Amino acid sequence: MTGNETRVLVVEDEPTIARAVADRLAAEGFGVQVAGDGPSAVERARAYEPHLIVLDVMLPGFDGLEVCRRVQAERPVPVVMLTARDDETDLLVGLGVGADDYVTKPFSMRELVARIRAVLRRVERPAMGAADGAVRAGGLEVDRRARRVRRDGREVHLTPTEFDLLVCLLRNRGAVLTRAVLLEQVWDWADASGTRVVDSHVKALRRKLGPGLIRTVHGVGYSLEAAS
Ligand code: CA
Repeated sequence: MTGNETRVLVVEDEPTIARAVADRLAAEGFGVQVAGDGPSAVERARAYEPHLIVLDVMLPGFDGLEVCRRVQAERPVPVVMLTARDDETDLLVGLGVGADDYVTKPFSMRELVARIRAVLRRVERPAMGAADGAVRAGGLEVDRRARRVRRDGREVHLTPTEFDLLVCLLRNRGAVLTRAVLLEQVWDWADASGTRVVDSHVKALRRKLGPGLIRTVHGVGYSLEAAS
């Protein structure tokens, strides 16, 4: 692997799709490696240290959800998940898996590359207000420079998108943020077509941070409850 290229791990068991995605990403200037099943995906992620993982859901060995869990437990890395159908995307969003974006098959390479670039752009920019350093609110301790979070002294591992979402809620604590505003501020999306992505990440954040922090304002959006 060469110096400063952006590395993408493609996890897909259908060889034609894997090959097509890998070829296109290589043509776009990315470093690419491919894994075809769950266990080798986890192994590859460890050895290759990709900047992003393109992850199919249905895989031999164990599935993409398990790959996501195991990889994220070791090192936060952005994940773009490939799903077979829209209802599969809904299911995964409901589970709060922690993928940064979802692309439904069949997809165009152009769309996939655009989504990958959008996620990378988001993750590579400094955390919002990074210069301000650490913030404490209630039992939360957020170090924006180091992108680390603790609740009640316990370290919480967040994906890059979950972290940005938490910082956005924290900066506006007490206020209710609509899904559209969160999409625009955290994801840089001007349209509101991806609001279920917001729900997915809120769900994952709640699971990791524990109860009593993020309030759902029905029909409006979300707010962070932490007392300052
Ligand atoms: Ca598959």
